[in-house]
Parts: sequence; structure tokens; C-alpha cells
Amino acid sequence: MQLTEEQKMLRDMAREFTRNEIAPRDKWMDDNGFDWDLCKKITKAGFMGANIPEQYGGGGGGIVDTTIIAQEFAKGSASIATFMGGHWLASNLILENGTEEQRQKYMPEAVSGKIFAFGLTEAGAGSDAAGIKSQAVETEDGWLLNGSKAWITNSGVADYYIILAMTDPEQGTAGISAFILPKDAEGLAVGKFEEKMGVRGSATCELAFNNIKLPKEALLGVRGKGFKMAMQTLDIGRISAAAVCAGISEHAMNLAKAYANERTAFGKPIKAFQGLAFRFADMYAEIKAMELLAYEAATTKDAGGRCTLDAAAAKLFATEKGIQICLQAQAVFGGNGMSKEYDIERLVRDIRVWSVMEGSTEILRMIVSGTVLSK
Ligand SMILES: Cc1cc2nc3c(=O)[nH]c(=O)nc-3n(C[C@H](O)[C@H](O)[C@H](O)COP(=O)(O)OP(=O)(O)OC[C@H]3O[C@@H](n4cnc5c(N)ncnc54)[C@H](O)[C@@H]3O)c2cc1C
Repeated sequence: MQLTEEQKMLRDMAREFTRNEIAPRDKWMDDNGFDWDLCKKITKAGFMGANIPEQYGGGGGGIVDTTIIAQEFAKGSASIATFMGGHWLASNLILENGTEEQRQKYMPEAVSGKIFAFGLTEAGAGSDAAGIKSQAVETEDGWLLNGSKAWITNSGVADYYIILAMTDPEQGTAGISAFILPKDAEGLAVGKFEEKMGVRGSATCELAFNNIKLPKEALLGVRGKGFKMAMQTLDIGRISAAAVCAGISEHAMNLAKAYANERTAFGKPIKAFQGLAFRFADMYAEIKAMELLAYEAATTKDAGGRCTLDAAAAKLFATEKGIQICLQAQAVFGGNGMSKEYDIERLVRDIRVWSVMEGSTEILRMIVSGTVLSK
């Protein structure tokens, strides 16, 4: 993967920011949850709006650029990569589908630190996203929203939610529309923070909508196109997810490398044992493959091409290999790998979550196999 000079500068900037600001806070976030101070620093450094065109005050980056940032951030904290992924996904939906008026209102806000969240999943509809039950009924002066959402990244800390709801239930997925919901809307209830096994520094809650009145302008994009918009945006999310898993895996490999250099057994550093050293060959090769798949899909997307298959394949490969790599790296630590005093156990918990978010392994296999077999 050849990066341009600008992209190399962006990578170095994100890498330095991760080393100085993000990595030192990851353990704290694992114990305590979302870190508002770090969020402010991320905003100040310009990363919140990295995906947003310069005309709205953003960094003007493409998908390759946000993929670079996601990968670098993930080397310091999977939680922060999760937070950024949710924010970019939701703000991208407005960027790609909003009216010019909506872009002018919300894009500068996304740049300046207002947090966005994407709400599709419900307690009864995750993989089967077409089965959502939340409903928005058109009224004389806008919309009336009822229903609920579950597992929404950034909920509880977000300023705006992009909510997918049925507007024309008899039309199936063509009856789903997207709405911009502000956090202070009357009738919005945010549940308690989920006690997750991993990415604990990212906020995740349930949302309940009780007769929320939304103005006409809350509709995002065309009525009935919400599902299509969400699926297209998920392509971008999956590319980012693949890069995040490459970042977490590299972090795990580097922790294991440091340990293998210092730990001795049978009178030698454990890295001298070929059985253990070979783990690193596999880890290295698989991380490279993850990166290549992610960046190829990102490059296709930036060039305006369709990347549903490549994005799904990249995430499928990266999440499955990433879990194996983190377990392999943990094994290098022996008993210490089970201790909370060592960071590696946190990475094992963090990477597991990525195989569920934005399309589980089985759903990605369905997308990839379905496309491959139909070609
Ligand atoms: C930390 C976290 C953050 C999240 N953030 C967001 C967010 O910001 N926005 C959002 O909308 N959602 C979010 N989600 C929800 C996530 O996208 C869903 O959890 C995911 O899509 C799976 O849905 P489910 O949990 O309902 O599982 P289910 O759909 O009930 O699936 C259960 C199991 O069955 C398998 N399965 C289902 N259907 C099939 C099939 N046809 N063939 C084979 N196997 C199948 C699944 O792969 C899975 O293993 C988040 C989830 C987590 C854990």
C-alpha cells in the first residue's frame, strides 16, 4: 500500500497523538468508561471532522485517510477507535445524503466536537436489520417517532442520533427512513451504560422513543431510502473496522514481542524457541494481509467504486484473524497473560467485540458467499 506524502504526514500525526494522548488513557477508560477530556483533545487536534470537506471546516479526508486514523488510534485504544467509528459513520450519513441546509448545520458541529451516533439495531432486530419496529408516522407538521434501539455506540454521550425507523411498514426495507434526532428531544430516554466485556471506553446504551415530535427537516435523505443509505454507509464502517482490527492486532503483537524479549525460560529468552517465534511470523503476515484488504477497499471507495464485497471480506478476515492473533499474543505471556496487570488481556476482550459490530461474522460470510456464488 503506497501512501501519498500527505497521507504519511496524517499517519505520523495520528501515530504521535495516539502515543501521547490515547494510549496512556486506555486502561483508565477500560475501568471508568468514556473519557470526555480525551474527546476534547481529539476535537482540538481536528480528528472529529477528518471525514468532512474543508468547506464545512473539516479535514477534507477521504476513506483512505479515515482508515489510516482508525488504524493508528486502534494501536492505542480500541475504545477510541469504536467511538470515532460511530461518530464518522453517523456524520457520513448526513454528508452523503443530507440536503445542503442539513450539511451546513450539522457538519460544522461534527467538526467542532458535537458527537454523532448511528441507531439501526433494536433488541429484536440486529443481523435481521430489516425487521426493525421503530416507527415514524408523518403528521401535519413533521413526524411522530416511537420505538426503541439497542447497542448504540456513543449513546449517552452523543448530541445527535441518526435513527432508522419504519415510515411505510408495508414496503419492507423500502419503507425504512432515516431521521436526525437531537439528544434533548422530548420523549427520548437513554438507558444505562452497557457493562461490556470489551471496548469499555466507548459508550453503549439502549434508547427509547416515546411520542417524539420531529420537524419535517429531521428526515434525512429520501423517504424510504434509509435502509439503502445505512447499508452503503456500513461499507465504509466495515473498511474502518478491518483497519481497527489490524491496529489492535499490531498492538497485541508488539506487546508480545516486548515480553518475548525479556522473559526467560530454560536459561534463554523465550523468543529463542522456534515454536514461539513462529507465532510472530504468522501474526506479521496476517496483519499485513488485513491492512492490504482494508486499504484496497478504501481505495476503491475513494475512487467512487462499489466496495460492498471487498469491505465485507476485509472485515470478515480482519476480525477472525484478529481474534486469533490476540489469543496467540496472549499465549506468549503465559500466566501473566491472564492478569489485568498486563494490557494484553484487555486487547483480547476488545477485539472480540469487533466480530459482532457492523455485521457479525456469519452475516459477512452471507454477503461474501452470496456475491461470490452469484458472479
Ligand atoms: C459494542 C457494540 C456496539 C454496537 N454499536 C452499534 C451502533 O452504533 N449502531 C447499531 O445500529 N448497532 C450497533 N451494534 C449492534 C450490532 O450491529 C449487532 O449486535 C449485530 O448486528 C448483531 O445483532 P444481534 O446482536 O441482534 O445478534 P443476532 O442478530 O440475534 O445474532 C445472533 C447470532 O446469530 C447469528 N445469525 C443471525 N442471523 C444469521 C443467519 N442468517 N445465518 C447465520 N447466523 C446468523 C449471528 O451471526 C450471531 O452469531 C453494536 C453492538 C455491539 C456489541
